[in-house]
Amino acid sequence: MKLATLSHRDETFVASIDERSSTCRPISVDGRRITDMLTLIEGGISASAWSEGEPIPLAEVTLHAPITRPRRNIMCVGKNYFEHAHEFAKSGFDSSASGANDAVPKAPIIFTKMPESVTGPNTAVGYPNGGCQQLDYEAELGVIIGKPGLGIKKAEAMGHVFGYVIINDLTARDLQAAHKQWFLGKSFETSCPMGPWITTADEINGADLTVQCWVNGEQRQNASTRDLIFDIPTLIETMSRGMTLLPGDIIATGTPVGVGIGFNPPKFLQSGDKVDIEITGLGRLSNTIR
Ligand code: MG
Repeated sequence: MKLATLSHRDETFVASIDERSSTCRPISVDGRRITDMLTLIEGGISASAWSEGEPIPLAEVTLHAPITRPRRNIMCVGKNYFEHAHEFAKSGFDSSASGANDAVPKAPIIFTKMPESVTGPNTAVGYPNGGCQQLDYEAELGVIIGKPGLGIKKAEAMGHVFGYVIINDLTARDLQAAHKQWFLGKSFETSCPMGPWITTADEINGADLTVQCWVNGEQRQNASTRDLIFDIPTLIETMSRGMTLLPGDIIATGTPVGVGIGFNPPKFLQSGDKVDIEITGLGRLSNTIR
């Protein structure tokens, strides 16, 4: 099932998506439209408990980030594909590694993005007030937690996953390098484009999805989540060891090789550029640089 948050005729609500007919159907419980995706996820409300309204053409709606405002920071994984770990180490921007031997992490590197960094599909994004000269894209698979847990074991981890979404972990490389900690360079407003919808975990296998990214139509990234250094169960086990994961939590699993700083000279994003990301079964997330 594909679930979106969208606006139609000045109303914002959650809807199921039918890609084949390019339509959506508003979801209601007890005769009332659901207006926040977290109501469904946190409430453990499944399709058998809701009703769906008449189909609306997708051409008539505006899609938002499916979880428009997460309750907590988005948890993100740094350097989680081998080839990307090496391109980052070579780029000179990696303040987390002390040399080439340190390029591939031995344990997951976790940082977070503020809830306010989230934006939807088809929005204009960029560092506020032009305070960054080196803006970069990172196409990533986002994992949405559906069931809470502390000390989740790998073997049970996938049972805690609600679904998947495309995330662009937009990064101000100059700030990421200058401040050592990645937070400031990765958490500015609009730095977390997300969408176009959530695909529920029963529909796809997160361990085998193709992640692709284009800038102005030129392909930059093309990889499989099979190549993650730390797979989804490992990430969930690691993160939940000391803190309770909650329904609606979002994990950005890391980006593959092909980011702007992987090129020589680097290909940073410029005003007017269009970034398109596709992941198998998750649709396409497009944003322009303002
Ligand atoms: Mg990233």
